[in-house]
Amino acid sequence: MALHVYDTAHREIVPFAPGPQVRMYVCGITPYDSTHLGHAATYLTYDLLIRRLEELGHEVSMVRNVTDVDDSILPKARELGVPYLELAAAELARFHADMEALEMRPPVAEPRATETIDEIVLIVERLLDSGHAYMTAGTVYFDVSTFPRFGELSHYTREQMVRLARARGGNPEDPHRRDPLDFVLWQPSLPDEPAWRAPFGVGRPGWHVECSAMAIQELGPTIDLHGGGTDLIFPHHECEVAQSEALTGKPFVRHWLHSAMVAYEGEKMSKSLGNLVFVSDLLEIADPRAIRLALMHHHYRSGFEWNNTDIQDGSALLHRLLAAAVAPDGPDPGPFADRVRAALDADLDAPRALEALGELADAILSGGTDCNAPVVLRELGTLLGIALDRPIAVGP
Ligand SMILES: [Zn+2]
Repeated sequence: MALHVYDTAHREIVPFAPGPQVRMYVCGITPYDSTHLGHAATYLTYDLLIRRLEELGHEVSMVRNVTDVDDSILPKARELGVPYLELAAAELARFHADMEALEMRPPVAEPRATETIDEIVLIVERLLDSGHAYMTAGTVYFDVSTFPRFGELSHYTREQMVRLARARGGNPEDPHRRDPLDFVLWQPSLPDEPAWRAPFGVGRPGWHVECSAMAIQELGPTIDLHGGGTDLIFPHHECEVAQSEALTGKPFVRHWLHSAMVAYEGEKMSKSLGNLVFVSDLLEIADPRAIRLALMHHHYRSGFEWNNTDIQDGSALLHRLLAAAVAPDGPDPGPFADRVRAALDADLDAPRALEALGELADAILSGGTDCNAPVVLRELGTLLGIALDRPIAVGP
């Protein structure tokens, strides 16, 4: 069976059969706080997809942006009393270190919103000229009434969209909007905020248009696959579709893949609840491969609950894999390898892939005559981003 993924817009598992070159855009971080397990779980999803696509012979161009100016980083920088770009640089360095430790494939480009302002201004200008946007009191809004397909990605009702816009900083009560769902493309900056000159006024971009600009600039008008966490489906991704397709007249995204949120010991893992589990803290106590394995015990679409004991499960499996990787021989590895690949191809079913990998390790450890078994185990480890050629560095 060919590679299949769950497409949010289609609401079903569909074949993912891109051409030799795959254009992938994954929404990146707003660098104002350290990388937590939710980020790691999200980026791991796309990392597994990239690894499998590469194995199938595709060349994957994954672009992951940096949202270094938006409504969350500016208040945080103000609160800390540091320049926002200084905060961004420090958090971005931590993020890179965490991603590297977890052996995530690096993006081919990592555009930053503050370095894409010219492109953003051009997009806003064109949306104004074509009647898809309007300006009131210094703010430019996208006019959703000009885009009848608004809502087709999320499939949310209008009431749901208004509620989510309110909950996620969209401010639908703003009296300057013609429609509560119209969203900001450009806004005046507060006195202590960064501001750029544009033909329609000095200010800063809205969050959604930043991603459209960076995606189109790096990958062109149509992307094979766009990803992010499920919390980005609305309004962020819905708005990206509207403004991008209104701009180019072309389909923006062929497939949408969203990774579920992570909870922590019974509660949603969130900044506001103060229960974030940071990757850097886990790296102090565990081998990065154990963290990857622990995350892979959960399917990317089943919002999962992280428990402190998960890391022990990851470590235990890592020990078994490493022991088997240096064994002299084992059983015929073919059927195990088929199961690992079939699991990945069935909507990135990492838990099922790990089950087959663990069974191969156990079978190797109970002996056999095929000296190829440990070799295949190591290859499968590489496919899943678990290098089995070095001992455990940290942890149990
Ligand atoms: Zn984005």
